[in-house]
Amino acid sequence: MKESKEKMSKGVTRRDALKLSAMALGGLAVGGAMNGPGAGDAQAATECPDPGHCYPTNDPTQQYYYYDHLPNVYRPNDPTDPKIALRDDEMRITFLGSMVPPVRRAQQEMSVFVEVGPWVYDPKHPTDPTYGRATDSIVFDCGSGVCANYGAMNIQYSRMNKIFLTHLHADHMSDLTHLYCFGPGGGRYSPLYVWGPGPSGVKNPKAPPKYYDDGTKALCRNLREALRWSTESFSFQASACEGYERPTRKKWGLPCNPVPVGDDPTDDGYAVVPIELNWRHYGKSERDNVAYDNPDTGVKITHFPVIHCRKGSIGYKLEWNGLSMIFTGDTKPEYMSVNNAINGNNGVDVFIHEMGLPPEVWAMKNLHLNKPGSGSQWDAYVNEMKSVINSSHSPIGAFGYILSQINPKPRLTVATHFQTADDTVDCAKNSILLHWPDMQWGRNFIVSFDLMVLNVTKTAITQFQSKVPAFGFSPLISVPDNLKPPKYWKWGQDSQGNRVKVGNPLAQIDRSTEIPEKDPATGDCNYRDDGY
Ligand SMILES: [Zn+2]
Ligand SMILES: [Zn+2]
Repeated sequence: MKESKEKMSKGVTRRDALKLSAMALGGLAVGGAMNGPGAGDAQAATECPDPGHCYPTNDPTQQYYYYDHLPNVYRPNDPTDPKIALRDDEMRITFLGSMVPPVRRAQQEMSVFVEVGPWVYDPKHPTDPTYGRATDSIVFDCGSGVCANYGAMNIQYSRMNKIFLTHLHADHMSDLTHLYCFGPGGGRYSPLYVWGPGPSGVKNPKAPPKYYDDGTKALCRNLREALRWSTESFSFQASACEGYERPTRKKWGLPCNPVPVGDDPTDDGYAVVPIELNWRHYGKSERDNVAYDNPDTGVKITHFPVIHCRKGSIGYKLEWNGLSMIFTGDTKPEYMSVNNAINGNNGVDVFIHEMGLPPEVWAMKNLHLNKPGSGSQWDAYVNEMKSVINSSHSPIGAFGYILSQINPKPRLTVATHFQTADDTVDCAKNSILLHWPDMQWGRNFIVSFDLMVLNVTKTAITQFQSKVPAFGFSPLISVPDNLKPPKYWKWGQDSQGNRVKVGNPLAQIDRSTEIPEKDPATGDCNYRDDGY
């Protein structure tokens, strides 16, 4: 067979296509009982369909994305919005970030928030859903900038204590800093639980050390210590409650005991508890890939390896009440995501997968061009983009191929980690339709953007765009009555005049250069103590 080096629509050569086919057989061998999509045509390499090069044409400084396919509006700050209080059978998936680096104003980096019903009202606000919370809620990834979106969506820190990281790239975890440090002041009077992959096991080519400690436990340990000044400085405020019910390995169905990394008490808001996962596991032996299985809320989360940049990246599948969603994180085309989406021929309800621009288009956009460039600078930059895609991502054509291999199809596929704009989305639609002619834009396939909300039940998946205030303040806070005294305390009085331990905000400062409210010599007022 004559080998063609001509680039095909997926950005792969014929040789690569043959390799991919061979990998299908490899996937079967490794996976044992897994369905092996692509195995049937492993012997006969086919030409990839060519969509023509659909270069985005918009002026890169004038990119927009019109959400015309989403007529439904969600207002998470409006107590009269009937969609806030999840019904017993509802799962809500919210995109708080949806962008590949670098972060942009229209899109923060990755984070997907999943909540399941029924809605639990705050006892102090029994009729106002905006103070309430879902029965269980999960944060998948927590990239740069997403805390601004969580706040705008009125998602309290107390609802964000379970973080599942797909991998330890900064665009998937850098807002952990904010979430961790400001959580206790924002109402999370309980530890931060962080799931994620264990060490990669990749050998260091410049040993020693032979291996780096590059897993989630090390991340949490170092995060905790790096933020010591920040957490101590705020520890004149309460960070724990009386009677916190600590989770156990059994209670949450964890693969290890939930033990904090530092010296923080196990009920404290500044405690960080890593739940490290063996990224190689995918369910070959029963339950070897269960990350969380909570019988009280019915949420079960399993994990599987994906291929991204360095060993150790994982995807997650969340199952609840007969519904399922997958978030693959970042990955090259691979069979674990495909097989999890096939889900034993049951399919999944929502399949969330990354999608990338072709290297040439990515280079055009980053260099502010609206047609391909030329010359050595251009070639060098396109090669850079190619190396990133080849080690790490699924460009639009490859993503189309992945979807062609998933049968039955997910009820809804969401492409994410993508520079969403009208022209890039048009470009993606063309490539995906060639592989999946039944794709119905806006119905079974969409591209994510920040603050997009999916309401999922067995009968319908409804998409919403959210309306939130750009100049909003904090999410609503309900202060519990049973706070423990803070770490830096002094004797004081409660509202009934009882002698109690209260926070001591002056314990950690040097006041020798302070300008006092009243001049100590004359007693004259320098400034008012009520702040006005
Ligand atoms: Zn990544
Ligand atoms: Zn990423």
